[in-house]
Amino acid sequence: MKIQVDTHTHSTASLHAYSTLDEMVNGAKKHKLKGFTLTEHGPALQGGLPHPYYFGNLQVIPKKIRGISLFRGVELNIMDEAGAVDLSVKYLKTLDFVMAGLHEACFKPSSTEANTRAMIAALANPYVDCISHPGNPPYPIDYEEVVKSAARLGKALEINNSSFKVRKGSFENCKTIARLCKQYGCLVSCGSDAHYWRDVGNFETARAVIVEAGIDEALLINSTMERFIEFCTLRTNERKAA
Ligand SMILES: [Zn+2]
Ligand SMILES: [Zn+2]
Repeated sequence: MKIQVDTHTHSTASLHAYSTLDEMVNGAKKHKLKGFTLTEHGPALQGGLPHPYYFGNLQVIPKKIRGISLFRGVELNIMDEAGAVDLSVKYLKTLDFVMAGLHEACFKPSSTEANTRAMIAALANPYVDCISHPGNPPYPIDYEEVVKSAARLGKALEINNSSFKVRKGSFENCKTIARLCKQYGCLVSCGSDAHYWRDVGNFETARAVIVEAGIDEALLINSTMERFIEFCTLRTNERKAA
């Protein structure tokens, strides 16, 4: 299974991550990627995270550094059950790839029904392309309903490699999500969620989960560079039209 682009990485701009953009390029080269997406946390997460200007200024980054293509993204915070997110449309329209996820500082873990409502509402947000770590154990969701909604909307659900280390109990949940994505034809994204340069392109366990579920390269939005550009182009056009 090819995975040529990492869809989920954090640099020192997210102040709980530890590597610069140029160091992250080394990680991408080490893992033989063709590109990666810089997806710092949205500004509502605590801890001095990027000001909204940061996202507006991503245009200053070269499209390629030492042969590695860079995509401009964000990992938004889902703020409430109505699927509100923490970056204005003005900035979201300038990005290549927009993820949104549930984080405890912004959305307290709630009932399965409430968590599911929040996630499905975020999926329905025309500016959101993908949900990050939907298998996170503190947030029980109705997997079948979330997968069916994502499939209907043409959005992706992430299998997050860091979850197996930092979100204990994710493994079975991610296996369930991957199996349902295969069953319902839902798009999948495979992200490292690297917070250190050496993890950019580290998909070891996530890839195994995806392969075991029988997900093919067409369903995986970042299997090849061409596939990822195709997905981002489609979503960027929809964001601009929204
Ligand atoms: Zn996250
Ligand atoms: Zn992340």
